[in-house]
Amino acid sequence: MEEHRAQSGCQLSIVVPLYNEAESLPELIPRLEAVAEQWTGGTYEIWLIDDGSTDGSFEVIRQFHRRNSRIRGIRFRRNYGKSAALAVGFAEAQGQYVVTIDADLQDEPEEIPRLLAKLSEGYDLVSGWKKHRRDPLSKTLPSRLFNAVVSAVSGLRLHDFNCGLKAYRREVVKAVQIYGEMHRYIPALAHWEGFRVTELPVRHHPRKYGRSKFGASRFVKGFLDLLTVLFTTRFLRRPLHLFGSLGVLFAIVGFLIDAYLVIEWAQQRTALSNRPLLFFGLGLIIVGGQLISLGLLGELIVKSSLWQSSYNIAERL
Ligand code: UDP
Ligand code: MG
Repeated sequence: MEEHRAQSGCQLSIVVPLYNEAESLPELIPRLEAVAEQWTGGTYEIWLIDDGSTDGSFEVIRQFHRRNSRIRGIRFRRNYGKSAALAVGFAEAQGQYVVTIDADLQDEPEEIPRLLAKLSEGYDLVSGWKKHRRDPLSKTLPSRLFNAVVSAVSGLRLHDFNCGLKAYRREVVKAVQIYGEMHRYIPALAHWEGFRVTELPVRHHPRKYGRSKFGASRFVKGFLDLLTVLFTTRFLRRPLHLFGSLGVLFAIVGFLIDAYLVIEWAQQRTALSNRPLLFFGLGLIIVGGQLISLGLLGELIVKSSLWQSSYNIAERL
């Protein structure tokens, strides 16, 4: 670990995804600078990823970069979403440790050292927990439901998956792949990759400038992405286990139903033609067969693709 630090010469990378936050930046950047300077003694970088702002955010970043070359900027030509901004920041990050923070000052830059201290207790990812959340009820209520569902399906018990403030060891940001709206699941993704994940309560403030960048569509997209996340992490390498077991289950139930009808028919109690259940059983058998084939197709795709080699290796000698 120490070797790596010497190699890259950068201890801390702060990654800030931002979309139309020109008003917050002049307050945010100096506070980040001060925290990073104090924690590293000067070996840090701050990556401001401008996700296609139209309010002159990047001009503000350019000004700060002129003054301090450790403040770096990337500007997307159009708005791709927070996950895209984070993914690009993660790819650029050189630091031993990586911290993400929203640009809107809802989280305090001054909390960063506490998160980093928690990492050194032996964690790979420390996620902020907005324990006293300063957002309208229309946001906090669905978010509680969201966190409960993700906790349940991911097996990782966290109160708050989607806090903008998080600290990572470098390996984590290089291992997780995020796109779509998947930034909400980073702790779950890291957990599935075998990293140690925990959370730490952080202070939270109402938005000072501008407005939230996410509308109601966040819920639909968020839950669809949960499906993708579940599917691509749990069943990525064994699609037949998912589709095959469902298919076999369907087919067996269908077969039992029809077998029962046939026995009754053989005993000449009823005619098959007036048993609607027959079609239900048939349907189950057919769909079951389809699901098994779908699983086999999945297996073929996995076998012929690169996915196989994407195991998260912790060490190599
Ligand atoms: N953001 C972004 N691209 C987007 C939407 C948001 O980079 O398309 C940034 C935004 O500027 C902020 C962070 O992601 O720094 C969180 O967004 P916001 O504060 O609007 O989300 P909320 O706090 O309402 O969940
Ligand atoms: Mg916010």
